[in-house]
Amino acid sequence: MGTTPRPAAETMSAVGPGPAGLVLPAPARAAVLDHLRATWPAEGCALLSGRTDAAGWWTVEAVHPAANVAEPACRHDRFEVDPAALFALMRTLREGPSRLIGHAHSHPGRPAVPSEIDRRAAHDPDLIWVIASLTGPDDPAPTLNAWAVAGWTPDGGADGFRPLPVRETAPAAPQHTPVQH
Ligand SMILES: [Zn+2]
Repeated sequence: MGTTPRPAAETMSAVGPGPAGLVLPAPARAAVLDHLRATWPAEGCALLSGRTDAAGWWTVEAVHPAANVAEPACRHDRFEVDPAALFALMRTLREGPSRLIGHAHSHPGRPAVPSEIDRRAAHDPDLIWVIASLTGPDDPAPTLNAWAVAGWTPDGGADGFRPLPVRETAPAAPQHTPVQH
């Protein structure tokens, strides 16, 4: 003995089953898209913090716009989150129950599916990728998809992405939710 049982949500680690879906409330979705429109024609990016639940749904609680610090000439088709923004957020999250659950970026004029560049950058199975396709800086209804890193192993890394369902609100608790003590 001597170890403290942990809530189910905390057992979904790097080697766990990964997310079942993303809960993106309307205000968070609007915040993501507002930022991504503003960076047109460059790719925009933002960090997403939130929580996980026992059924595997990861919920965005806050959107943190970040600068795209990729080489200026390359920002139309790639992004690199400002490391200073990432470190600052990680420090803030240390104080509370939320954690970094993923990031969002835009594909200006391209589909909301991972690019070859994205595939090569898919290292972390604990982060959800949100990709929004914008047809222009004023696109009223961009397509937004969420992706989980797929086939990840500690030795081999990832072999791509799998699509995730996106919902505005969390689904009802599953029938096999553990009884609370
Ligand atoms: Zn991309």
